[in-house]
Amino acid sequence: MLIFPLSRSGLAKFRPLHRPFSQKIISQDKQTKPYRKPNSPASPVSCTSDTFPTKCDVAIIGGGGMGSSTAYFLKKKAGRDLNVVVVERDSAYKKASTPLSAGCLRQQFTVEENVLMSRFAAEFLHSFRSEIGDEVDPNFKSYGNLYMVDEKNAERLAQGVALQKQLGVKSDLLSNDQLKAKFPWINPVGVGLASYGCVDEGWFDPWALLTGLRKKAQALGAVYVDAEVIDFEFKSKDGAEYDAVDKIVVRTAKNEQRTIEFDKCLLSAGAFSGELAKKARIGTGTGLLSTSLPVEPKKRYIYVINSQGQNGPPLTGPQVRDTSQVYFRPEGPNFITSRSPPDDREPSVDNLDVDLDFFDTDIWPHLAYRFPAFESLKVVGSWAGYYDQNTFDQNGVIGKHPAYDNFYIAAGFSGHGIQKVPAVGRGMAELIVDGRFKSIDLSIFGFERLIERRPVQELAIA
Ligand SMILES: Cc1cc2nc3c(=O)[nH]c(=O)nc-3n(C[C@H](O)[C@H](O)[C@H](O)COP(=O)(O)OP(=O)(O)OC[C@H]3O[C@@H](n4cnc5c(N)ncnc54)[C@H](O)[C@@H]3O)c2cc1C
Repeated sequence: MLIFPLSRSGLAKFRPLHRPFSQKIISQDKQTKPYRKPNSPASPVSCTSDTFPTKCDVAIIGGGGMGSSTAYFLKKKAGRDLNVVVVERDSAYKKASTPLSAGCLRQQFTVEENVLMSRFAAEFLHSFRSEIGDEVDPNFKSYGNLYMVDEKNAERLAQGVALQKQLGVKSDLLSNDQLKAKFPWINPVGVGLASYGCVDEGWFDPWALLTGLRKKAQALGAVYVDAEVIDFEFKSKDGAEYDAVDKIVVRTAKNEQRTIEFDKCLLSAGAFSGELAKKARIGTGTGLLSTSLPVEPKKRYIYVINSQGQNGPPLTGPQVRDTSQVYFRPEGPNFITSRSPPDDREPSVDNLDVDLDFFDTDIWPHLAYRFPAFESLKVVGSWAGYYDQNTFDQNGVIGKHPAYDNFYIAAGFSGHGIQKVPAVGRGMAELIVDGRFKSIDLSIFGFERLIERRPVQELAIA
């Protein structure tokens, strides 16, 4: 039986608890020194603590997980001589994907680069205190991840685990009988094969990760500007096929319009990156600029449930994904659960209201069938957030845009981006400062694949 604690319309909305960042327009960076590009006649920088930054070396659009991670790794790498300005329109991060994420980290991907990024995420979380500080704790719970597939997807799962093992991941295949023996609270009927990993797999607090990265980036001198990027300005280059992107046009929290000139710019505006890319002529121009950035918001719900059943999943158990793609994991004394809606029932993205009927029709029947203890449960909360969906191949677009010398993109991580935050930030910092990826070669995720219609075939995403 499904028990709701309140009338449906009165169901409590639940949001991860967090405090908004201060609303200051510019952080204090009194020690910022001018940065001189090689052969540059004059300093391009005028970021000071008492003026709005009109120029900078690197402008980052969007200070969510990707933007703040890049800001941190840039400052760590290049130090005070590199002026980094992060423009963030929602300083409380009410609608950003990062704090609304479920925070799952898994090693169980089928593309090597995705596995390597998750390996680095685990390493980063383990060393968070020494790297970032102890003001916030991402609370990494490595309780494991369990994936179940039906017979027809068993071979794909086995191939994925074989690759993961080659890369040093501790994931194992479980037959139907082994699954039943190890997890007696699962009804294994219809499960062809399962994979289970319990080293460096689990979940963490995305808000704490963001808070730590942002504060550390600011402490190292990155300047956060409370404003919305609304347009770009260009300048023509002699003999070049495409104009160069030169400035971002922003509307400040005080409703003033300003420009910030940059040497390099990173677009990391999450789910809204595709729309903003058009202002940089990406998808509206000719030649290399005729291909759009296929990143758009998709609304996804998370329901918080309290299990009333006997002999159910333990609160220290793994995150579990069913053959139906319904997943759940422990969250304190409760569990959180969700799945993506079918393509023909994508909800409107006009607001972040939660559809409670979707739980009744599309989630609970699968939970109750596969995990009999969940036949009896209470929905004690819910929230919704935007997946930053790459509609082309559901993988991040990471790298420099081929039409520009100075315009970079990190967007479109499609529901598996929070675990990529450390690796993408480090990779973007390498690309921007050193001109190439040094730690993990992320070039398969470049914009070129969109132009050449070469999807990255990651099979472990739904
Ligand atoms: C419900 C849900 C569950 C998820 N679960 C997981 C999970 O378990 N594991 C996982 O790995 N990933 C998960 N994800 C995905 C993950 O949260 C995202 O991929 C990741 O957070 C993307 O980070 P981002 O920095 O690109 O985007 P965001 O966090 O959205 O940051 C982008 C920032 O850009 C700002 N911005 C946008 N436009 C402008 C503009 N014009 N000017 C200035 N600023 C602008 C926004 O305000 C925002 O703060 C989940 C996402 C959701 C919604």
